[in-house]
Amino acid sequence: PTGRARLTVDDLPVRPELRGKSPYGAPQLDVPVRLNTNENPYPLPEELVGRIAERVTEAARGLNRYPDRDALELRAALARYLTATTGHPVATESVWAANGSNEVLQQLLQAFGGPGRTALGFEPSYSMHGLIARGTGTSWVAAGRGADFELDAGTARRAIAEHRPDVVFVCTPNNPTGTAVPAETVLAVHDAAQQVRPTLVVVDEAYVEFSHGTSLLPLIEGRPNLVVSRTMSKAFGAAGLRLGYLAAHPAVVEAVQLVRLPYHLSAVTQATALAALEHTDTLLRYVDRLRAERDRLVVELRAAGCEVTDSDANFVQFGNFDGPGGAAEVWRLLLDHGVLVRDNGVPGRLRVTAGTPEENDAFLDAVRAVMKEYD
Ligand code: PMP
Repeated sequence: PTGRARLTVDDLPVRPELRGKSPYGAPQLDVPVRLNTNENPYPLPEELVGRIAERVTEAARGLNRYPDRDALELRAALARYLTATTGHPVATESVWAANGSNEVLQQLLQAFGGPGRTALGFEPSYSMHGLIARGTGTSWVAAGRGADFELDAGTARRAIAEHRPDVVFVCTPNNPTGTAVPAETVLAVHDAAQQVRPTLVVVDEAYVEFSHGTSLLPLIEGRPNLVVSRTMSKAFGAAGLRLGYLAAHPAVVEAVQLVRLPYHLSAVTQATALAALEHTDTLLRYVDRLRAERDRLVVELRAAGCEVTDSDANFVQFGNFDGPGGAAEVWRLLLDHGVLVRDNGVPGRLRVTAGTPEENDAFLDAVRAVMKEYD
């Protein structure tokens, strides 16, 4: 309106590596069927909503004070959950929590990455690993995956020997492909990395509750440089809560405490998460249903003529859209049918999150219609 060109980020004295970059962001569009951010489609049960209200009311009475800086009660509850579900005894001192696992990963890179240091991941994978590296001044190296998006131990060893990373990310089940990484491969990556120099290996298990196999958490025993990161955003159906956590040697927890902001987890967040963890069984009751829906998506997408990557998560990667418009065109056509999926930039592929049976039916109908238009 002033007639002057709009001031942009690039006009400001920002760090040079941020110039010309875009923020992370899956579109938050208001369409009937939203299957693009790997959320749990089921709202929290009413009994839990009531319990959250009670615990938050209690916390509100003490909001004049800072919250428990070390979130001890919450970390103890998370340790009990991990112990109960993995069969591996996890102590409170081995658990750390933050505002989403994104913040956990950021704190890990602040402590173990940073300027002059390098982090390595196996792409396509969770794009925030590279973005958090950039945000913390850590150099990012993307190594590849095999033809079926599996993580090959030989390729991993060569990439580690070549790039000598300080931090290695292994995402299992991997986002956006759904691929699980076997324990032997994670161990091979860990051992190869330690041979070069002491290296932190971060196993991102955001989707592990949906997987066929078991958590790799027991591998932290005797391996102080191996960290398992988790979240309540997916299987727990609490993405809006913003609660992520890690399990590792207590020394790793001490290290992240050197970089975390004091009182980073609000009293409201701690109260809400504690209420949620009182109802773990209720929260996780949809996991089996979502797994079954995921398996149905795989079968039906294959029947519709799509190539589908085997998935251990609550989402499915499908394609292979190798026409001139590529995956972007199919993404747009699905949106025209009222269905929002994710284009993660993997050539020819899209990713769909398992929703409710009705949402998945709508998605599958749209795919069948689009496959006709696309051919
Ligand atoms: N890791 C992976 C692999 C993810 O896909 C996500 C969410 N998309 C996260 C971590 C971060 O989740 P949150 O910050 O909600 O815990």
